[in-house]
Amino acid sequence: MHQRFIGKNVLVTGASAGIGEAIAIRFAQEGASVAINYSRNDAGGASTARQVRQAHAEGGFDGASVFIHKADVSDEPSVKGMFESVLGEWGRLDVMINNAGIQKPAPSDESLTQDFDRILGVNLRGCYMCSREAIKHFLTRPGGGVIVNNSSVHEIIPKPQYLPYSVSKGGMENLTKTLALEYADRGIRVNAVGPGAIVTPINMSWINDPAAKKVVESHIPMGRAGDSEEIAAVFAFLASDDASYITGQTLFACGGLTLFPEFRTTWSS
Ligand code: NAD
Repeated sequence: MHQRFIGKNVLVTGASAGIGEAIAIRFAQEGASVAINYSRNDAGGASTARQVRQAHAEGGFDGASVFIHKADVSDEPSVKGMFESVLGEWGRLDVMINNAGIQKPAPSDESLTQDFDRILGVNLRGCYMCSREAIKHFLTRPGGGVIVNNSSVHEIIPKPQYLPYSVSKGGMENLTKTLALEYADRGIRVNAVGPGAIVTPINMSWINDPAAKKVVESHIPMGRAGDSEEIAAVFAFLASDDASYITGQTLFACGGLTLFPEFRTTWSS
């Protein structure tokens, strides 16, 4: 394991489960202090914190710390409170990971405006507000900072029946690029990871159903769903100095899903 984040402070939103949990642990394994955010799942938040502590202990990172800040990233006062708390605790933030995300299926013609607002509120508005607060802080000190957003293959692949989700991830691409361009000259890098189908609680509809999982995996060129740890590794790369010349990009980690899998075999000349 690399040790690229010794002495660095990282805030991960949505870290009580799934990919966010794996990201928090990965950064801890590389020596970072980690702030764990989530909205509801107290047991999940506590479990991530335990695993982060364990990673610190196993790595011998005596100076590294962990703390939990429960907050809804779609709510502006809660986001401001979270930054006050993080900066009050550490005085400095180096890496912002915008991972919190939700989805809800519905035929678009029957979908509810309140669900559209809620999903955009968490996935996109939350990312915007956390990025803005992080950048405000990055600009107060030399050295800049790094933001990595959790997008999706649905940043570029439409997702019927998940219109608000697709729209939120499409918006995230432009948010990532716009912030990257706006702050590139001030040492701030902004990138995104675009996961494909990953085994996490958000995919409850198929992860524990072998037949449904087989159908999902039949569409993936590499023939399998991904693990949260494989996605966390991409976050760590983009946040590290190994990616020091990369900004404004989405790195898809999707087993080939963005490669137009329907064209695997020749069906037209
Ligand atoms: P998950 O449901 O396992 O975890 C979601 C996390 O977000 C939880 O910790 C939850 O507490 C948190 N969260 C939800 N609403 C929140 C809010 N308002 N404020 C703060 N935290 C909130 O989901 P996951 O699969 O780990 O997804 C994480 C991210 O990865 C999402 O942005 C999702 O769109 C993206 N993603 C997931 C997949 C996949 O296949 N699992 C694929 C592409 C992208």
